[in-house]
Amino acid sequence: MDNYREYVGNVHVHSVYSDGVATYQHIAAAAATAHLNFIIVTDHNVRPEGLEGYRAAVEGAAAVLVLSGEEVHDVRRRPQANHLLVYGVEQELAPYSFGSTQGLIQAARQRDGICYIAHPVEKSSPVSPDLAAIPWTTWPPEGVHGIELWNYMSEFKGLLWSKVVAPFHAFFPEMGIRGPYRATLRLWDELLQQGYRIAAIGNADAHGTTYSMGPIKRAIFPYEYLFRCVNTHILTQSPLTGDVATDRALVYEALRAGRTWVGYDLPHSTRGFRCLAQSGSTSAVPGEELRRLGALIINVTLPARGEIHLRRDGKIIKRVVGTSLKHTSEEAGIYRVEVYRRFRGHRVGWIFTSPIYVT
Ligand SMILES: [Zn+2]
Ligand SMILES: [Zn+2]
Repeated sequence: MDNYREYVGNVHVHSVYSDGVATYQHIAAAAATAHLNFIIVTDHNVRPEGLEGYRAAVEGAAAVLVLSGEEVHDVRRRPQANHLLVYGVEQELAPYSFGSTQGLIQAARQRDGICYIAHPVEKSSPVSPDLAAIPWTTWPPEGVHGIELWNYMSEFKGLLWSKVVAPFHAFFPEMGIRGPYRATLRLWDELLQQGYRIAAIGNADAHGTTYSMGPIKRAIFPYEYLFRCVNTHILTQSPLTGDVATDRALVYEALRAGRTWVGYDLPHSTRGFRCLAQSGSTSAVPGEELRRLGALIINVTLPARGEIHLRRDGKIIKRVVGTSLKHTSEEAGIYRVEVYRRFRGHRVGWIFTSPIYVT
């Protein structure tokens, strides 16, 4: 078995430093109540200094590691596009955002930054001019570590396709939330086939803003609710220690390597999910490469029943309904796992792993 440790976090969150309504302390409290281990706050074009640390925000709950990243884009660009999530850089990158997106990625990489494309595919909503689509338009994405495969608030925006349905989804979001867009999954598989190594993260993109329509007012959505929905699960090389510098390095190393999966933790927690590929005496988890030394064996185990799809080079090669999947093969390729389950009368996406690159 692998010796990695699993931690659950949300790595796309807004605070009062940009257009979110919550302070770092409030965000930490919401994360602690939702049993997250870490949070990376990613305000728009700003990275506040001196706010990172473990915050024991709720009595009886474990302290949450709160880090500061940045969601960077060229504010002068019309229409808006190309939101880039950057982690691990201790300076603001907004000054490098003007003009070329590729230049921004380069500036981040030169500073050892970790780059993930935020909400690569978006649908706009006619309900408000503030809800225009902000997709990624600069392909192929040279130099990025991964994409945000599933963004909860971005999918929610796509549900608001008319003023009639908007209040329904505002009150019963789980009736509409389904999973990553097919277009995003297709795009991802195409890029992987072109040889790009692209990991997957999934996030809330929480702002805590209030939605109002006539007499109806509702916070869309409280941070705590969102932290129980779409999260990024990471596998670290050793246990978190409680020391901020050490643990920051462990979290960022996992994101850089792409040892991640996206979990929709609301229907059922995805903690405990495992996916391991083995060949001879070597093994690999999502995000890693595995050189074949004979037969390839892939083992998937779930914390509860689900519909497991094993994909190689984008195509489903095995489908199992249950709590585990085992597959033996000789073939090289890019393997990844998707899991679906029933929730509130619908089939919803539950788990999406980063790829294992079998050579
Ligand atoms: Zn964004
Ligand atoms: Zn955002």
